[in-house]
Amino acid sequence: MRIIIFGAPGAGKGTQAKILSEKLSIPHISTGDILREAVKSQSPLGKQAQEIMNRGELVSDNIMIEIIKDTLNQDKCKTGFILDGFPRTLPQAVELDKLFAELKIDKVFSVVIDVNEDEIVKRITSRTACKACKAIFNDAEVKGLAKCPKCGAENSFYKRDDDKEEVVRKRLKVFRETTQPVLDFYKSKGRAVFVNGLSSIDKISEEILGLLK
Ligand code: AMP
Repeated sequence: MRIIIFGAPGAGKGTQAKILSEKLSIPHISTGDILREAVKSQSPLGKQAQEIMNRGELVSDNIMIEIIKDTLNQDKCKTGFILDGFPRTLPQAVELDKLFAELKIDKVFSVVIDVNEDEIVKRITSRTACKACKAIFNDAEVKGLAKCPKCGAENSFYKRDDDKEEVVRKRLKVFRETTQPVLDFYKSKGRAVFVNGLSSIDKISEEILGLLK
């Protein structure tokens, strides 16, 4: 099973991608997570990406396309994957189609999680992530907790730098201007289905799993 999950920042695509990855036993490929790992290890890529990400801007297409080529060619992706965060620009979408053709991948399910911008700002600015397992929580869910309820790691909560309100607004602007055309491209080819991102987490994953059948 090969899936691409789309949605504005904060629409819940990371959360849904994790659930689907577990339920369907396919790897979750999040370009945001790959970049955050690179930043953490201060690799050359990480050093380059750090400031761009902190400003809420996009890392260059060339870099991202190389990352995705390298990842989709790995054995773990041979039988399926869920792509989260890629493609985010039209050139990325075009290159991804070429890569699918090279890898002889013809069936890819694309799902868009739809949420309005005000809801997104509210959600992102009140979220906390776990450094260890990367789970995302609402601040209220983990208030006062010392351990991550998902993986048990201690003192692992943090706020992503790019979750600050001014950066969120910038990321939404980038989404509107750069990624929306990608969705229109998929839509025009009848390749994307939409789900309502305001439903509960469980309902959304049920709906996506239902659509996959
Ligand atoms: P995400 O966790 O998917 O919201 O990604 C966090 C940040 O990583 C984005 O705001 C971008 O700066 C960068 N990023 C992730 N995926 C891509 C991509 N496909 N193209 C360019 N930049 C990306």
